[in-house]
Amino acid sequence: AGGTTLIDLMKLNVEVPSKIIDINNFANDQAWSGIEVSGNGLRLGSLARMADVAENADVKSHYPLISQSLVQAASPQLRNMATLGGNVLQRTRCAYFRDVSYTQCNKRNPGSGCAAIDGHNRLHAVLGASQDCIASYPGDFAQAMIALDARVMLVGNNGRREIAFSELHRGPDDPSRETTLRSAELIEGFVVPEGDFRRSMYLKIRDRRSYAFAIASAAVALVKDGDTVTKARIALGGVAYRPWRALDAEAVINGGVLNEERAREAANIAFSSAVTHEHNAFKVKLGKETLVRALLETSRLEI
Ligand code: SF4
Repeated sequence: AGGTTLIDLMKLNVEVPSKIIDINNFANDQAWSGIEVSGNGLRLGSLARMADVAENADVKSHYPLISQSLVQAASPQLRNMATLGGNVLQRTRCAYFRDVSYTQCNKRNPGSGCAAIDGHNRLHAVLGASQDCIASYPGDFAQAMIALDARVMLVGNNGRREIAFSELHRGPDDPSRETTLRSAELIEGFVVPEGDFRRSMYLKIRDRRSYAFAIASAAVALVKDGDTVTKARIALGGVAYRPWRALDAEAVINGGVLNEERAREAANIAFSSAVTHEHNAFKVKLGKETLVRALLETSRLEI
């Protein structure tokens, strides 16, 4: 596709493919590259470029969360080249994974252990990880997709199938296998079901103000009736092993008036299962503050 992740990993010798298949010609088919808003929701082709989706007027007005997650994900040059499908499949930024001089990495060398557990783990996950791998998922767009209950359209040797976005990324039981994609299966597109997502935002906290990976992020979409939140959707990034839907936090917000006290209650529940290591305990406090701010700012948006 765009090759922005693959070429990067090939330069580091993390990926050493014997063959590369260029699928960019598929983009001639609307199913693979289109951006369509209809009564049934939003359909995004997997070969749509991040920049085209981020700047699409319908996406900006009806799905600001998606547009913001893409704008904050990468530099303009990368957004022009990188595709949505490649973006959701990008691999972790764990330094031990990306530096092949370290042999201890269960993700790269299954069964070798995890150098990050007792190493430099400031950027690693506090939610959903295991002793086999504590890598954090690096993307932003995926948090928007999982928060909005998106579905993933797949094409493979045995035809087509469709899965929930929440089923695309695997847990850390076998760190070398990151997705549920089958052999030779490709992502054709994503479908976001119909809904009112105008009151939504993506808040990303990073070490520098632009073009860095999230240390903590929150994807929030709210539907309100007066002051009451009738539907809350929350996903967290930068803090978890995979794109992370915070369903328990949503349950706290749903059906009530969203004030700071309730937002803090939701944030505490969202991180109640956090497991920290030597350098990343700060992510629990930062992640909670990020979510509180995202909830309150989203609630105050003028629609
Ligand atoms: Fe490898 Fe995961 Fe450990 Fe990083 S955290 S060294 S990717 S096993």
